[in-house]
Amino acid sequence: MTKMTPYTPRNAFTVDLEDWFQGLTSTNPHPERWPSLESRVVPATQKLLDLLHVHDVQATFFVLGYVADRYPELIRAIGEAGHEIGVHGYYHRFIYKLSPDEFRGELGQAIEAVERAAGVMPAGHRAPYFSVNASTPWAFDALAEAGIEYDSSVFPTRSMLYGYPGAPRFPYRMAQSGLVEYPVSTLQVGRYTLPILGGFYSRALPYAVTRWAIRRLNAQGQPAILYIHPWELDLGQNYRKVTPRERITHYHGRRGLEAKLRRLFTDFRFTRLGELGVAANGSKLERSNA
Ligand SMILES: [Zn+2]
Repeated sequence: MTKMTPYTPRNAFTVDLEDWFQGLTSTNPHPERWPSLESRVVPATQKLLDLLHVHDVQATFFVLGYVADRYPELIRAIGEAGHEIGVHGYYHRFIYKLSPDEFRGELGQAIEAVERAAGVMPAGHRAPYFSVNASTPWAFDALAEAGIEYDSSVFPTRSMLYGYPGAPRFPYRMAQSGLVEYPVSTLQVGRYTLPILGGFYSRALPYAVTRWAIRRLNAQGQPAILYIHPWELDLGQNYRKVTPRERITHYHGRRGLEAKLRRLFTDFRFTRLGELGVAANGSKLERSNA
């Protein structure tokens, strides 16, 4: 028997909006080559938008500035469908490889591009590759200075590319910058903090594991914050020059993902990330923008 909590949090479904070659670490560092690669972000995103529409889910899209500049009509369509639009950098660079000034420049360029396309100033930010960690404390101040209200870049775990081990696992307001941080959900099992609700993990794990993890978070009075990329739903995209790691992280399990998402959207309630709020105590959420 599971114990009922007095308040069941809503969850947040988030989308990192980028083209497949911007997410691949082998093609990402070469924007000069991007125009020679087949852009598939529009049809891949449309597939995801259709799925969200059918299930009446409103999500948060973190949009790459480069994509916003090339496909403004796509960004407008996302906003008109009732989704929230945030920013995801301009060239999808690792923040921990940038200097504070380089980050400010890239962020400003990205915000301008997304605002131009969407017609509204993005309130939220997610770092490419979740690339904030203990070495980038300046990133949060730069976000607040740029007018960003909340961030969702902290992945309080360790993986091959990203992770901020030891960071808080649940939404919180940062004392210095005033920024609200919505860490991507993890699961605590003994002394291990496991990433489990992201694109790759959703593709690799059976849906029953995803469902169990969300129920467990909700029973603790916490929302689940999930993320995905449109290219994960694009079965027609096959780049032959990927590395062995990318073959797994980028391509494994794509075929079963759509069916898993349909079950997910049926089983749980989702809202836009910026509306989740920060937990005032263990079971009740307080709207941060009230
Ligand atoms: Zn990304």
